[in-house]
Amino acid sequence: MSGNYGEEGAKLAWCMKSLHARGLITGSGGNASIRLDGRDEILITPSGVYKAELEHADLVRMRLDGKVLDGRWKPSSEWRMHTEIYKKRGDVKAVVHTHSPYTTGLSIAGRQIGPITPEVALMLPEIGVVEYACPGTEELGKLVSGRITGKRALILQNHGVVSVGRDLLEAMTAIEVLEEGAITTFIANLMGGAKVIPEEEIELIKRVYKR
Ligand code: 13P
Ligand code: ZN
Repeated sequence: MSGNYGEEGAKLAWCMKSLHARGLITGSGGNASIRLDGRDEILITPSGVYKAELEHADLVRMRLDGKVLDGRWKPSSEWRMHTEIYKKRGDVKAVVHTHSPYTTGLSIAGRQIGPITPEVALMLPEIGVVEYACPGTEELGKLVSGRITGKRALILQNHGVVSVGRDLLEAMTAIEVLEEGAITTFIANLMGGAKVIPEEEIELIKRVYKR
């Protein structure tokens, strides 16, 4: 039976609305999940249901082994990518997958997003790229879990981005910072070339903003 998932369900629905409003996902592309406290369970967005209009009853509760516990829809087709990440990274409490157009476009063109702004330098010192694999497959899930150690975000070649966080806001922030870095890189390249922040300045940023 589909339930009311309280604050967690509301946050997940809000997250999709917000990503949609920013053009980072479409009505049909992108998904997100959160780990339910103290359990080997997650709350995940459903597959193929318009992303900006999700409600509690649309969300799916499932176990990390793939068993669906609650929900009227199928879980996101990317559930393996989400569960593989949670199994690999005990620290991760939220996973967000978007189709961020500038980030994805730059990577399709073979362009890197370097430490172009202090935010990118600080939050995304290493942006991994995962080679193309068909969306929704076990292969994609395994490729992502093989690369996610020590990372906050990975670019999925010819597809999008997946990010992780200790909560939903942290995972969303990584997606937003990455896309802003991609837009900034794109503009700088149009105007003659994207110059990154020098190494010694990056060290200073890290010292100043050390948390
Ligand atoms: P779902 O609707 O199944 O979550 O799929 C969207 C998507 O982005 C697949 O990569
Ligand atoms: Zn996708």
